[in-house]
Amino acid sequence: MSSIDRYAVIGHGLGHSRSPQIHALFAQSTGQPMQYGLIDVPAAGFAAAVRDFLAGGGRGLNVTVPHKEAALALATRLTPRARRAGAVNTLAHGAGGDATAVLGDNTDGAGLVRDITVNLGYALTGTRVLLLGAGGAARGVIAPLLEGGVGELKVHNRTPARAQRLAQEFADLGAIASGDGEAGGEYDLIINATSASLRGELPSVPPKACGPHTLCYDMAYGSSGTVFLHWARTAGAAGALMGLGMLVEQAAESFLLWRGVRPDTAPVLAALRT
Ligand code: NDP
Repeated sequence: MSSIDRYAVIGHGLGHSRSPQIHALFAQSTGQPMQYGLIDVPAAGFAAAVRDFLAGGGRGLNVTVPHKEAALALATRLTPRARRAGAVNTLAHGAGGDATAVLGDNTDGAGLVRDITVNLGYALTGTRVLLLGAGGAARGVIAPLLEGGVGELKVHNRTPARAQRLAQEFADLGAIASGDGEAGGEYDLIINATSASLRGELPSVPPKACGPHTLCYDMAYGSSGTVFLHWARTAGAAGALMGLGMLVEQAAESFLLWRGVRPDTAPVLAALRT
């Protein structure tokens, strides 16, 4: 067993992952001795891969598409925000002094809100937001968006029943609804939380949802942009941004949970953008 603390990102189709580079830069800037790898496994192999990694001394995992809901089931304890989200994107082994504990957290929402409000300087208060998707990433961001001051949140998903379930589940936190949004007119902010971009596909967007005042944000990221961001520019959006900042900010939250140190994200984001 290696003496250096080991971490990894676990997902399927991880060719695009920038997480190892981000955590290597965090480790360097904070002087934390750690290794960070990559585990690519389909849904059927997720639980066994996590068990093997932790049994081999692994200290923590970032969990990405499509495993966030499975990670919730696997954690032995949950942070309040992971329990509220019903999805886990960070696992910490041995947290709280219990060597067998596997703590599940969700840092996606904090990462998204921080990117939008701090890095991009966009005020969420009172905004009308259209959230595309109802998977693990969408689950993670709903509570932080509503708590961050969003005035009205509409969830739109390819499988409508999943969007309806989310709208019911989070109804106690604010004005949230599901639906095709056709009567919704122009939104202030459209967030693409579907995984369609990973396959170069465009999710369906209600007509007239995007106008000259709309900011479009794709959680996905890629060196040549995404189909959704291309669509947003063509539709005349005020801005079209990809989720590299969210990725760095949610990673910083995970790093803080694991190492007790919050890394400075600005230089890492700048390095990734060059
Ligand atoms: P899940 O697999 O849990 O959910 C996928 C969602 O996308 C579902 O709502 C699904 O709809 C929808 N979807 C998939 N394909 C299509 C399509 N062709 N058209 C319309 N909808 C589609 O994935 P996650 O929620 O974990 O991740 C979603 C995305 O967010 C990924 O691109 C991921 O990389 C990104 N992400 C980025 C982060 C960042 O830090 N930047 C952090 C977290 C996620 P249905 O219910 O009908 O199947």
